Amino acid sequence: RKYSGMVEDCCCDYETVNQLNDEVLHPILQELVKTPFFRYFKVKLWCDCPFWPDDGMCRLRDCSVCECPDNEFPELFKKPSRVRSADDMVCQEGKPQAAVDRTLDSNGFSGWIEVDNPWTNDDETDNAEMTYVNLQLNPERYTGYTGPSARRIWDAIYKENCPRYPSELCSEQKVLYKLISGLHSSISVHIASDYLIDEAAQLWDHNLELLYDRVMRYPERVTNLYFTFLFVLRAVTKAADYLEQAEYNTGNSEEDLKTQSLVRQLVFNPEIRAACPVPFDEAKLWKGEKGPELMVQIQKQFRNISAIMDCVGCEKCRLWGKLQVLGLGTALKILFSVNGNNKLNQPLQLQRNEVIALLNLLNRLSESVKFVHEMGPIAEKQIKRK
Ligand code: FAD
Repeated sequence: RKYSGMVEDCCCDYETVNQLNDEVLHPILQELVKTPFFRYFKVKLWCDCPFWPDDGMCRLRDCSVCECPDNEFPELFKKPSRVRSADDMVCQEGKPQAAVDRTLDSNGFSGWIEVDNPWTNDDETDNAEMTYVNLQLNPERYTGYTGPSARRIWDAIYKENCPRYPSELCSEQKVLYKLISGLHSSISVHIASDYLIDEAAQLWDHNLELLYDRVMRYPERVTNLYFTFLFVLRAVTKAADYLEQAEYNTGNSEEDLKTQSLVRQLVFNPEIRAACPVPFDEAKLWKGEKGPELMVQIQKQFRNISAIMDCVGCEKCRLWGKLQVLGLGTALKILFSVNGNNKLNQPLQLQRNEVIALLNLLNRLSESVKFVHEMGPIAEKQIKRK
């Protein structure tokens, strides 16, 4: 199937999105996420699932988690943290590809304010139990996490928090559904793009059948991926001034200048501004009498989705799940808590970790859009030939 015309509910067409992504966004983002500022993410990885305390999967922790020596962490990272009990030190089973590699190098951050994000469940200002993870060492890809535990998470997200939309849902609920579905597509695309083909030989490659079965077969999932990409891109360009003025200081001036320059190239990009000036029009939402009430309700639903991430029973999936949900929460905060139609109308204040999540999420979505654009038609042809 050829995707053409406007992306549903957005303000740009597929061809423009693909061209902008291939020529501008993808190359800049790939560079940006490798910089010292953007490669470390602060996250609470311990699982405190509030919904299913008996989920055996949730107790699987890998040895690398407990063995990470203290002297590996730079001074700047040594924030007060939870005292670990002997129980935590017991190494438990887990597939090696599902465990987070916590190796760090010596670049730190400085100078950002700490404010909690109203769209997410974790308190972003609470440093207890938080660790820093080098995202470059932990790519999002196949981990072997599957079966009832994974299924239960997706079911909970869709059924409890954003019922499948058809006509009875208002456009705000539809947006929430599409964001989650787009993120789900993106996760599936990353699994398909980096798949463990042969466990014994540790051979990783594309799995186009999986790409077809989980994403390409369902045009709605492809559309939702593009929608989510444009939604997050809109948030990034809306916060352009803030992002340009922010400090990207890690103590390595050469790298930090490069980071600043890449951010500027991204947020004030003349090609994006000319071809797709408003990727998504947030002003259309929360209108009418019920606007403020709806906003509170959807914020609550999104916070629940964020809480469910603590129940993801595979560490690496939890890491990327949390990062991407925080990234979406940050996009929602930028688009709807600031200069929007609601009464909050506060000046924009972002945490360093929110900006890291937002741009890493945009990069993940950009990778997925590129993969779907390039490999989707090949996957479709292969399946038809069979
Ligand atoms: P699932 O992907 O589990 O889908 C479940 C059901 O949801 C489908 O049957 C379908 O009805 C519906 N559905 C699927 N896609 C969409 C969509 N785009 N829009 C709307 N509905 C949809 N596994 C890894 O290998 N690596 C990871 O990094 C990883 N990260 C994860 C992060 C999170 C937060 C979660 C919850 C799971 C993660 N998983 C990861 C597991 C992975 O997403 C799948 O659950 C698993 O591979 C099993 O896939 P499945 O075929 O059963 O379908």
